[in-house]
Amino acid sequence: MPDNSNNLNTTLITGGAGFIGSNFIPFFLEKYSDTHVVNLDKLTYAGNLEHLKEIENNNRYTFLEGDICDADLITTIFEKHSIGSVIHFAAESHVDNSIASPDAFIQTNIHGTFTLLEGAKKYWLEAPNRPKKSFKAARFHHISTDEVYGSLGHEGYFTEETPYAPNSPYSASKAASDFLVRSYYHTYGLNVVTSNCSNNYGPKQHNEKLIPTIIRKALAGEKIPIYGDGKNIRDWLYVLDHCKGIDLVFNQGKTGETYAIGGDNEHNNLDIVRTICGILDELYPKKTGSYKEQIAFVEDRLGHDMRYAIDASKIKNKLGWQAETNFETGLRKTVLWYIEQSK
Ligand code: NAD
Repeated sequence: MPDNSNNLNTTLITGGAGFIGSNFIPFFLEKYSDTHVVNLDKLTYAGNLEHLKEIENNNRYTFLEGDICDADLITTIFEKHSIGSVIHFAAESHVDNSIASPDAFIQTNIHGTFTLLEGAKKYWLEAPNRPKKSFKAARFHHISTDEVYGSLGHEGYFTEETPYAPNSPYSASKAASDFLVRSYYHTYGLNVVTSNCSNNYGPKQHNEKLIPTIIRKALAGEKIPIYGDGKNIRDWLYVLDHCKGIDLVFNQGKTGETYAIGGDNEHNNLDIVRTICGILDELYPKKTGSYKEQIAFVEDRLGHDMRYAIDASKIKNKLGWQAETNFETGLRKTVLWYIEQSK
């Protein structure tokens, strides 16, 4: 029997114990008082329920531990919770891990996305292009990355029209999942949208990623490792600005379309490490010297993409989105959060 007898819209969020999901769920529950969230997460090394403490007792929130690749489980969840929409974050997400052991990326990112799409198709559609009456508005939002577009030189930007050219097992597996999502719209008429976002930063990100690594190593008095010459450029977006973009695409995006989300905020890795060290010198000074003295260059990542940058005109012009947090403010909030965690 469905358990949402109180007529709440029930959204299945996958990977909600990860970095972006655990920022998104509290924001989404707060914004929509008629929504119930079912968070399905396998709790890999990247999932952390501590980051969802603030909502764990919310009666519009249900946590389920499980794997998106488990087809029987997915069918049961759709039926038991009358799932009316999906926002799909779950993925293996760290490029370095995908270089060392790609298998889990192929499994979760490709097979897992396929399993969820099948679950949604079976539960929402009577037949191809014929949604069941009560699921006419049921939508599948796939969260993806700008890394599917490959690498840029010094000029130009990724847009929704940029041909896919993934370079790492991570980005290749995300590209494959994007194509599966696209195919379920074109073949079966499933109501899908996809958003491809640039690098996020903010509280709750796993220690393995660049900005948390810089802060953690700095605070521990260890060498702060920077790949290659530190000149690789990424377009950085504060995680809550991404969450607001996801909300807009999920609620107002056009079916079958994709939306690129980015912060017009390009920085190379060396700039970032120096800025963070400067913030730490001010907020949490060492007894002697600057954190900058800990910066150390290490051998470059294999196949390291040179530059990512997004032209976010479509989501800005069509959905009225814009990044609200400037980089300095966002970095300060992030550094403060990690200082608190380290105590
Ligand atoms: P994350 O690695 O922090 O979290 C991933 C979550 O998915 C974890 O909680 C993990 O336990 C869960 N998970 C992994 N495999 C699973 C499985 N088989 N079944 C169920 N749950 C599983 O990732 P993130 O940084 O929060 O990224 C979320 C999504 O956003 C990903 O799809 C990623 O590709 C995309 N994205 C991330 C960024 C970024 O900068 N972090 C940028 C653009 C897009």
